[in-house]
Order: sequence, then structure tokens, then C-alpha cells
Amino acid sequence: MTRREFVAACAVTAAAASSPTAALSSAPAAPKPAFAMRGVYFHDGFAAEPSRHAPLNWHYPEWERQMRWMRACGVNAVEFATMLEFNRIPSTDFERKKIADRLKLLELVHKLGMQFGYLLTNTVVSTVPDGEAPGAQLGNRAKTLCPREPGNFEKTLDIARFYMKTYREADFFEQFAADWGGCECGKCGVGDYLRYVRAQAEIAAELNPKAKLFADTWCIAFWRKNPMEGGWRAVFDHEIEGTREVIAALGSLPKNVHIAMPCHHLYRPLAFKEYGGKAKTPVFPTKADLAKVRSLGRDTLAWTHFVMDDDAYRPPAWGIVHCEVRYIADLLRKLKAAEVNRVVGNLYLPMLQLGNTFAFGKLSREPDMEVGKIVSDFASLMAHPADRAALDDVLRWMENHSYWQEQMPEDGKLPPMECSLSKEEAIRAADAIRPNPKPDLPLPYPAADWLADLRRSLGRMTWAA
Ligand SMILES: [Zn+2]
Repeated sequence: MTRREFVAACAVTAAAASSPTAALSSAPAAPKPAFAMRGVYFHDGFAAEPSRHAPLNWHYPEWERQMRWMRACGVNAVEFATMLEFNRIPSTDFERKKIADRLKLLELVHKLGMQFGYLLTNTVVSTVPDGEAPGAQLGNRAKTLCPREPGNFEKTLDIARFYMKTYREADFFEQFAADWGGCECGKCGVGDYLRYVRAQAEIAAELNPKAKLFADTWCIAFWRKNPMEGGWRAVFDHEIEGTREVIAALGSLPKNVHIAMPCHHLYRPLAFKEYGGKAKTPVFPTKADLAKVRSLGRDTLAWTHFVMDDDAYRPPAWGIVHCEVRYIADLLRKLKAAEVNRVVGNLYLPMLQLGNTFAFGKLSREPDMEVGKIVSDFASLMAHPADRAALDDVLRWMENHSYWQEQMPEDGKLPPMECSLSKEEAIRAADAIRPNPKPDLPLPYPAADWLADLRRSLGRMTWAA
């Protein structure tokens, strides 16, 4: 345990001792957290309705509230990235203000005893004209530059170097294989990706010898020609292959290089579907893969995505409250069984996903905690004491009919939570729930507003009968 992890563990224990809600759901002497790193990656590249929900539009105060909430939930690491159109040396006050806010946030995160991470891209560069502010990523104003063409590697590395220097106090960096990034020229491959890993590891070692650099193999399949030719199935197959190439190379990479894996094959409905069901999906990473990483003295980080929150590319699920406590628990239990002890989840619209954040914080410390109890504790946090049971029921209905569940092939669906409500009853019950006047955790926005978002979300769940 590093000093920072120790301080974070103490902070969490102190928060649990002083918080009635937290105390309800954990034993008096909190056991050692199952995951040493319990992180959340923030994606702030999308617009949303209502616009106040989009971190793209946030300033320091929103972020500060978010950090205090995360810490109270038990999260001990946060991670940011340079969003798609922002991949350039900043040329507007808008970009410079974002960076200034984030640097202030880095200080706060450290004061709170948490880690700060920064995710770096490789070949992607903004095409937004200098002096014009970048914006929401659906504008798609960016391109990739093949690093084999003269000058491109240096040009793209310079952008990463700028962000590494800016956030030199970060505890860890990630080199994100693709999406955005990668190269589909047909000549480039994993070796070209590793060129970025090596170069950024060397920069990190100079700037901050304590910082780790995780090679994140998310979409590493996009370092080949026509990666989608064989559909998503091929992409997931190549993710296994590409990740194993990175593992094989780890021993020859600088000592500060570690590995982050998306672990799609363990939890993602799209992967299960592509392989014809969960039972037919290959297990990856295997215990042998992870043991190989450990034997090289390197760490593994599970960089899991979409369970806590979904993105704008799946419109039905975008911009609504999600409740996925069963699936978060299932994923964390699998990772724990695989002896992975660093995990990062994701948030796109953090204020909507208070429930999943609360659950992730608890489960990443104690993955075997009972799911029903977490939902009840969260209901107690948000609802007036007289309406706690009603919110508990509504959340169970939402959980049983979530979009994640909807996408899951039959053999991947987890047993539903006990709930007797129909959709109409859930909507009616939600209408009458009053907010908790005295929440005992520092919510990042008022419980009354979250309940309004919950009601709006139930109306949006058109796939659920
Ligand atoms: Zn190329």
C-alpha cells in the first residue's frame, strides 16, 4: 500500500464512521478494500439535455462537488482525458480555462487523499481551426495521422507531451490504444502503438518518476486495416490478440509501464452477443494472462466501461438515470476472483448516476456486499424517510428493466431483484417520492433534482413493458 492509498483508506474509514448511511451498510471495522485502486474515468466530451448535466459545460464548483461526493462514496482515484476535438495545443481561452480548472482539481483530489490519472491518446489530432473553440465530440472534428508518415509521430507525441507536462503531478497516465486513435493504414500494428507507449513512458519517467503509465488496450484492434471488416466479433478477438502482444512486450518496456485491459469479455453485452451468448464468450484475461503480468512485476488495471453509465452513441440509454447494481457487483466479483485489484469505472453524466456511483464505491471495497442492501441504503440517502421504501421499489424496477439488461443475451441476464411493481405503478410511485431533507453524504446536486431526473428517466425507458 502506498502512502497515498493508506491516506485514502483512512479517509474512507473516517467517512464510514461518521456517516449513518455508510455505517448501516458496513461492519464497524471496515475490512481492507478488495480493490486498492477504485477509480472513475470522467468523459466530458458530449452535450446533453438538460445541459447542466454535461461535464463539457462544467466549471470548477461542479467538479469540486463531484470530487467530494466520489470520495464520500469510497472512490479513491479519478481520471480525465483530452476529449476528441481538444487534441491540440490549446489556442482558446475556453481550453485554457478548462485546463486551469482541472489543475485546481488535481490539487483538491490530492488533498482528499485520492489519485489523479490522465488518459493520453496517440494519433488523433483536432481539425478545429486555431482560435475556434472545440466542442461536443459528435461534431467529429478530428482525424488520425499515420505515425509512419514523416513527422506525424513527433507531431502527435508533442501534443501528448504538452498534456503530460501540464498534468505532471498526475499519479498515473494511460496510453489509450484507440477510439480515438490507432491507425488503419494497413502497415501499422501493435508495434506502432507500443512506440507511443515507450515514448510516453520515457516522458513520464522524466516528469514524475513516481507516476505509472498504463498501456490501455481498449480498441487495440484499430491498429490494423479495416478492423470492422469482421464486425465487432473480430474487434473483440483482436483485442485478445493485441492485448497479449502488449503483455508479451511488457518485460522489454520501461519499468513504469503497466497494463490496463477493458475486460470486455467478462461483462459487456455486445461482446456476449457477438460470440453467441455469454457461455460461448472466451474468458479474457485468463488467470495465466494476469499471472504473466504479475511475474513481470507489472500491475493490471481493469478499465471497465459502460456499466456505470452509457454514452451518446446509444440514444435510448443516453441522458437518463441508470441502475445497474447487480451488474456492477457481478463484474467486480469476477475481477476480484481473477485477483485484479485496480479497477476504473466510467461516468459521462455523473449527476444522473448517483446510484451507480454509490454502488461502485461500496462494491469496489466489498464486492460481496448484498445488492439489495446497497439499493435500500441508496434509497435511504435520497428519499424522505417516509418514502424510502417507495424509492427502493422504484429502483428495483429500474434495475430489472435497465438498458444494460435489455442488451444482454438471455444467458447473460442476471436474476431480477424482487419487485412487484408494474411500469405504471413505478411511474406513479416515483411521482410521490419526496427528497431526503438531510442526506448524510455530500450529494453533488439536490436530491429533489435527482428525483426529477429519475421521473424523467422512467418515461424514457420505452423498451420496458
Ligand atoms: Zn499507419
